[in-house]
Order: sequence, then structure tokens, then C-alpha cells
Amino acid sequence: MPEVNLALKITNWCNLHCAHCCERSSAAAPLNLMPIEKIEKYISQFKDMGVPTWEEVVLTGGEAMAPYYKQQSAYIPTVANLLAQNKLSMALKTNGKWGENIFLCNRILNDLSQVAHQHDRQISLDISIDEYHDNLYGAANIVDAIMRNPKFSEAIPVSWCGLNTAASEYTRQTFINMLTQRGMTVLPMDADGGIVIMTKDNMNVMFYDIGGLSRIGRAKDNNLTEFVPRGIPNQSGYCFEITNNDMAILNYRFKTAIGDRTLGEIYHELKTKVPTR
Ligand code: SF4
Repeated sequence: MPEVNLALKITNWCNLHCAHCCERSSAAAPLNLMPIEKIEKYISQFKDMGVPTWEEVVLTGGEAMAPYYKQQSAYIPTVANLLAQNKLSMALKTNGKWGENIFLCNRILNDLSQVAHQHDRQISLDISIDEYHDNLYGAANIVDAIMRNPKFSEAIPVSWCGLNTAASEYTRQTFINMLTQRGMTVLPMDADGGIVIMTKDNMNVMFYDIGGLSRIGRAKDNNLTEFVPRGIPNQSGYCFEITNNDMAILNYRFKTAIGDRTLGEIYHELKTKVPTR
């Protein structure tokens, strides 16, 4: 069976209002943060699912850094600690707008690196770079701050994702130009668009993930379906997603020795057959 990963949609609030947002997230959405107690419950269920799992849990939204904008800055470090105590890493899906505010940027990077160093477990950032996100300046500031501080670069790997469109490729190049204008040397790393970033004292890599535009949410409202890329599925699958409404999305089927099953079906079947540990 393939490994599965867990994504927690901790909020639907977001400080951006992207035209393609599959969640219809915006600043008008309530924060409605996923309670820490529920996250504890999900972690324990995830570890007890009886299927191969990633050692990483994704926090997404909306904007995963939303708690920092809403005077709840202890939330993300608390979740990171909780995951690390369960031998799980944390990956945050973020638009990177917080990089525009130098104080907020340092606060977040300090918080993340502190937890990462304490548990010897990296915490990664995954920033969307495409034609719909108005975030290049903040994203470049984040990479710049990480590259200038070994404490950050050891603890916080950054990857980026874009869309398989010509406009997204242009945005990707613009972002690379912004990094070079800040004195970083950027070299191609692989055929997927990953890059090696170098400064005088530091070297790092950014993996690039290219995805499709989901035909739901505002992408559908705005009739953006023509930008669905060629030959790439809308969802990569194998992802056990849980929303902040306590609604598990269990409709990803994959092949198993006992037929095609969703993770939820397998989870419940195992629960009835395997004695509780
Ligand atoms: S696509 Fe991401 S950054 Fe844009 S509005 Fe949606 S959640 Fe926010």
C-alpha cells in the first residue's frame, strides 16, 4: 500500500483572495481554528491507522499562518511541539505574505526554528508561487531571511509549488530573478524545476512541485477551468484531509490487496479486526 499523509485544514481564513482558490478562502471567513484537542485526537488516530504513513503532517487552510495574524501566536508552535513529541514533522502550506513584515517574519522563523532545534526535527514551508498569488515579495524575503541565518536554514527547508501554465512559469522565473537581485546565486537542480540557492556562507535547495488547478471553489466561480493543465490530475491522492469542521474527507480510493478502498474504509475495517493497542 502507498504511504498516506495527513493534512489538517486548520482554518478557512486567509489574508489573500486568489481568483483560483479552491476553498473560497478570504479575510471575510471566520478564523474558526481547529482546536488543539482535536489535533491531538487526529494525530493519535493517524498513528494508529494500520497503514503506512508519512512522518509528516501538513497544516493548510486558508492560510496556515492565520493564527499569527489573529493574536494566537502560540498556536503553531504548540502544534509543532505536539507533532514532534509524536515523532512527526510539520509542513506548513503558506502564501508567504507574512514575509512582507520583517517583525512577523522573524517572529515566525524564530518560533519554528526553536521547536525544530529542540526536537531535532525540521519544519518545512511550502509556498505557492503562481500567477494568482500576490506574494512574491514576501516569499523572497522569507527565503532571504532563512539564507542569512544558519539557525533558520538548518531548521526550515522551503519548497515551492506552481501551476503547469505558461503564466506560472513566468512567475517562477520572476521569483528566481528576485532571489538573484538580493545577491543569491540560483542554479537549476533538476528537471522538475528545483533550484540550488547559494550565498557566500550558505547553500540550500528548494524543491519545486507543479500541480493542477482544482475545478472547484473560486476557480469554478471564475470559470478558470481552461487552465487545468495537460495530463496532470487535479488531486495527487493518498491524502487524508481533515477540515476544521471536523469533517474527514475520505473519498480518495487506492488499490489494496483487498480491493479499492478509501482510507476511512480501511481505517474502520482495521479497527474492527485488529485489537486496539
Ligand atoms: S489560494 Fe491559498 S493564498 Fe489564495 S486565497 Fe486560497 S488559501 Fe489564500
